[in-house]
Amino acid sequence: MNNYEYLLSDISILKGVGKSLATKFKRKNINTIFDLILSTPSKYIDRSIETKIKDLHIGKIQTVTIMVEKYNFPRVRNLPNKVICSDNTGKLDCIFFNSYEGYIKKILPLNKLVTISGKIGFFKGRYQVTNPTHVNTDKNKIKKIHSNYSLTEGISHNVFSKTIVEALSKLPTINEWLSTEILKKFDNISWNEAITNIHNPKKEYDEKKCINRLIFDEILSTFLINSNIKKKFKRKKKLPKKIKFSLTNSVEKQIGFKLTIDQNNAINEINNDISSNQRMFRLLQGDVGTGKTIVALISAQNVILNDYQVAFMAPTEILAKQHFKLYKKVFKDSAKANLLTGKTEHKERKDILNNLENNNIKIIFGTHALFQKKIKFKKLGLIIVDEQHKFGVNQRKRLSEKGDANSDVLVMSATPIPRTMMMTLYGDMDITLIKSKPKNRKEINTYTKDVNKINDVINFIKKEIKNDNQVFWVCPLIEESKKIDHQSSVVRYKYLNKIFKNEVGLIHGSIDKSDREEILNKFLHNKVKILVSTTVIEVGIDFPNATCIVIEDSNKFGLSQLHQLRGRVGRGEKQSSCILLFKSSLSENARKRLKILKSSNDGFLIAEEDLKLRGYGDLLGFQQSGQKTFRLADPIINEDLFQLAEKEIKFIEKENINLSKYNSLLKLYDRANIINELI
Ligand code: ADP
Ligand code: MG
Repeated sequence: MNNYEYLLSDISILKGVGKSLATKFKRKNINTIFDLILSTPSKYIDRSIETKIKDLHIGKIQTVTIMVEKYNFPRVRNLPNKVICSDNTGKLDCIFFNSYEGYIKKILPLNKLVTISGKIGFFKGRYQVTNPTHVNTDKNKIKKIHSNYSLTEGISHNVFSKTIVEALSKLPTINEWLSTEILKKFDNISWNEAITNIHNPKKEYDEKKCINRLIFDEILSTFLINSNIKKKFKRKKKLPKKIKFSLTNSVEKQIGFKLTIDQNNAINEINNDISSNQRMFRLLQGDVGTGKTIVALISAQNVILNDYQVAFMAPTEILAKQHFKLYKKVFKDSAKANLLTGKTEHKERKDILNNLENNNIKIIFGTHALFQKKIKFKKLGLIIVDEQHKFGVNQRKRLSEKGDANSDVLVMSATPIPRTMMMTLYGDMDITLIKSKPKNRKEINTYTKDVNKINDVINFIKKEIKNDNQVFWVCPLIEESKKIDHQSSVVRYKYLNKIFKNEVGLIHGSIDKSDREEILNKFLHNKVKILVSTTVIEVGIDFPNATCIVIEDSNKFGLSQLHQLRGRVGRGEKQSSCILLFKSSLSENARKRLKILKSSNDGFLIAEEDLKLRGYGDLLGFQQSGQKTFRLADPIINEDLFQLAEKEIKFIEKENINLSKYNSLLKLYDRANIINELI
C-alpha cells in the first residue's frame, strides 16, 4: 500500500470501526481515514478571540462578553427560556430549550458580565445563541478547544477520540510537497507533525501554524487542480485565427455608441487569444450592464470571418433570442445566423442541424441544449457561454470537451467574485475584467422605504409610468414554501392591478415556461408597464425602458443578489431608481447591509462586503458552481493563506514546475478526478 492509499481507505478498515459505526461516520461525510483525521479538529475554533455583537457572523462559532440584562421565562411548554444580553454595540439573546431556570440563573447571573462562546444564530431580527455550553464569568476560563470533535448522533466523544488514535497509529510518512520557502512560513512543520499535533497538541508546536499548514495544503491543492485544467486545455495546439481590426469601427457605426476603454481592452485580450496557437479558455467578467454582449459578438464575428462556426449559449431562450437579434442588427448576416430553442419546430430544427453539420450556419444562438451530442458542428471555432454562474464546473468541463482543438472558449459572468475567491472558482481560466460602465449611464438612485409607506412608492411609480417608463416589482422567493411565495406575488399583483388597471403582468415559479416568455415579451414590448415577479426574473435580458425596480422584503436577499436585481434597470440613458422595501423593525445588521447597497454601485465591493457579512457558503454563484467547499479553509478568515497560495501557484506556473511532487497532495484532496475526466 503506498502512502496515500492507506489514507484514502474506507474507515471501516480501522480496528473498532464496525458496520454500524462506519455508517454513522458516513452520515457525517467521513468516508475515508483522511476524512476522519482532517475533520477532527472540526474547524479550528479559537474561542479566545472575542467579537463585538455588531461584528458577529451568523452561523459561526464566536465568543462575546456580554451583560446579562433580563430573564424571560415564559413557563409554557415548548416555549424556550430566553435571557436578553447586550454589549455596547448591540443585543444578543441566549435561548434555552429544556433547561432549568436555576441552572440558567447560575451560569448567566443577572447584571454580571459573562463570556459566552457558541454558534451565532439569527431569529426575528436578533442575534441569538441556543443552549450555549461555553459560558463563564471569567473569560480566561473560555479556552481554545482542540479535541472538541463535532459529533454526530450515536458517536460519543470517547469513541471518536479512540478512532482517531487508531487512525493516527498507522499514519504513513508523507513526502513533503511544499517548497522550502513556503514550509519555512509554517515553522517547517511537516504534514505528519501537523496532523498529529492538532489532535494531541504538544508544547513544541504552535497549533496555529499546524492548522494553517493544513489549510494551506487544501487551498494549494484546489489551485493546482485548476491550474492543471488550464494547462491541459491549452496543450492542444490550434490554428491561429486572423483578426480584422476594423470590425470595431464598423460596429460602432451600427450601434451608435463608442465602446468603452474596458470593452476595447477586453476585445484586445480576446483577439490575442484567438490569434494565438493556444486555445482560449477565458472568463469575461463584468458587472451587470458593462456591455459584455457586444464584446462577445465582435469576437464571434472575427472567428466567423475565418470561416469557423460559433456557438453562443445563453441561460434562457429569451436571452438567446435577444442576442440573436442584436447580432442580426449589427452584422446583417442573418442568413448565416440562427436560433435554436426548445420551441424550434421539428422541420426547421432538422434543417438547422444539417446546416450546422455542413458549415452553412456560421453562428447559432441557443440555450444549453446547444451542447447535446446530436448537434454536430463542422468547424466550431468559438464557444461563448453567457451568464456562466448558471453553469457550474461540470458544465464547464463538458463544454470544454465539446469543441475540437480549434474551438476557443469564452465564458461571461456578471457575478462579481470577491478577490480571494477568484482563483478558487476560476483558476482554470484566464480572466478579463470589465470594470467601468458606459459613460452615458446615470447612477441608479437607491432608496430604502418602510413598506407602510407604500403609497409614496405608488405615487412615484405613477410618475414613472406617466413618462412612459416601466417598472419591475420583485417579491421574494421563499424557497421552503413555494405556495407562500406565489401567494405573496399574487397578492401584490392584485393590489397593483387595482391601481394600474391592465398595466400589470405577473410571473412566478409555477407559471409555465411558455406563458412566462409571453408575459416577458409583453413587458419587453411595453404592452404592460409593471412586471410583478419573484426572483425568477430572467438574468441578462436588456430592458432599456425599465427605469424603476421595487424589491419587497429586501433584507431577505443577499447583497450581491440585490445588486444583480438592481442591474435590471439603469440600462438606458434615463435616470433609474431602485426602491428597497422593508418591514419595520430591521435588525442592526440588515440596516448595515442595505446601507452598503445604497452607498455603492460597485458590484465587486458589494460582493466583498456580502462575503464578510454572510460567509462564503452563501455567496451567490458559489453554491451553484458545483465547486466543492473547503474542509478547513475559510476565505474570510484565511485570506492571507489564499494570497500566499495564489503567489505560489503563479510561481509554479511561471517556472513550469513539474507537478509530480504534488501527486499525493492532489490525490488526497480528492480533486484530481476533475483532470482525468476532462482529458
Ligand atoms: P451585460 O454586460 O450586463 O451583459 P449588455 O451587454 O446587455 O450588458 O449591455 C447593456 C446595455 O448597454 C445594452 O443596452 C447595450 O446596448 C449598452 N451598451 C453596451 N456598450 C455600450 C457603450 N460602450 N456605450 C453605451 N451603451 C452601451
Ligand atoms: Mg449580459
